[in-house]
Amino acid sequence: MKLETLLIHAGAEIDRATGSVSPPINLSTTFEHGPEAERLYGYMYIRESNPTQTRLETALAAVEGGEAALVFASGIAAGAAYLQALPAGSHVIFHRDIYYDFRTVANEFMPKWGSAATLLDMKNLDEVRAAMRPNTRLLWAETPTNPLMQILDVAALAKTAHDAGAKLIVDATFATPVLQRTLELGADVALHSMTKYLGGHSDVQGGALIFRKREHDFDEILHIRKVLGAVLSPFNSWLVLRGLRSLACRVERHSANAMALAHFLEQHSGVEQVHYPGLPSHSGHEIAGRQMRAFGGMLSFQVKGGREQAVKVVSRVKLFTTATSLGGTESLIEHRASSEGPSTTTPDNLLRVSTGLEDPEDLIQDLSQALA
Ligand SMILES: *Cc1c(COP(=O)(O)O)cnc(C)c1O
Repeated sequence: MKLETLLIHAGAEIDRATGSVSPPINLSTTFEHGPEAERLYGYMYIRESNPTQTRLETALAAVEGGEAALVFASGIAAGAAYLQALPAGSHVIFHRDIYYDFRTVANEFMPKWGSAATLLDMKNLDEVRAAMRPNTRLLWAETPTNPLMQILDVAALAKTAHDAGAKLIVDATFATPVLQRTLELGADVALHSMTKYLGGHSDVQGGALIFRKREHDFDEILHIRKVLGAVLSPFNSWLVLRGLRSLACRVERHSANAMALAHFLEQHSGVEQVHYPGLPSHSGHEIAGRQMRAFGGMLSFQVKGGREQAVKVVSRVKLFTTATSLGGTESLIEHRASSEGPSTTTPDNLLRVSTGLEDPEDLIQDLSQALA
């Protein structure tokens, strides 16, 4: 079945008790079991699993092309669970320009968990190979990256990881399963913040891990989710499931709008540099063209005039909302260094844009007046 069809039908089995076409939200925290806790219907207690969550996991595994999926209360919780499942004494190599709070996990929490982290530039495979240690269990990539829109070569990183007996996880939040077939490219695990495009309406938080193979790590992580409790609620599972139904259409339009904005910004005299992998001037354009179907709705750009001018631009927008996060129907813009806080490594003249589904002419007009 084609991806567009799977997005509509995966996990959408008709409820046999009522015939409802939209799936029921099952709010029960506990499920009738046998006298010795036999799971008569497959469920026991909500922290372990629940039927609405199962529907979402079934859908995600089918859509991403993996054997199994696990959903969590947030994207960060999903990633943290993966890292917590590694044996103490493990070494993980992270790409340097990854989602801000995953860098916090690498630098602040992994040492507390008895594991070691190296952050480097994964665009340079020689650097990755040189950093490999006998206990390197995992390469952690993100592509496109947040907020610099760097592109990493998933197939090449998968080979590098596997040659050394390690696994590759890829945070594919910006790409979604529609634009990038992360597991088919060779990654072992795809990570998504469902708070972004999968939910798609800026009204639900969640995270997902999708596994190419259901192996030992899956069981470990399921155990961690159950014991440590970062579960996704039934209502949030339902909202993400609903978001999935329109994902292909939305992402196509997000991508077209972002491309229009990127072209406009690139020729604007007040803009120093545009970071959008759809532009031939982007250093990752060639790899992105190979591993992505379109280039997505996210872009960032650096303005001339430094931090002061960047802040001025965000204070002048009318149609864009000044807010963090991404992947909703409405266009957002933010001064990313301010959002990330004092330890940011983001250039202070950089603005990050989540392109919404509005008419692109209106978006261009708004940025045009803000940059003037
Ligand atoms: C937002 C985001 C996350 C974290 O997801 P939450 O749902 O906010 O925990 C991780 N990675 C990327 C690329 C993101 O944009």
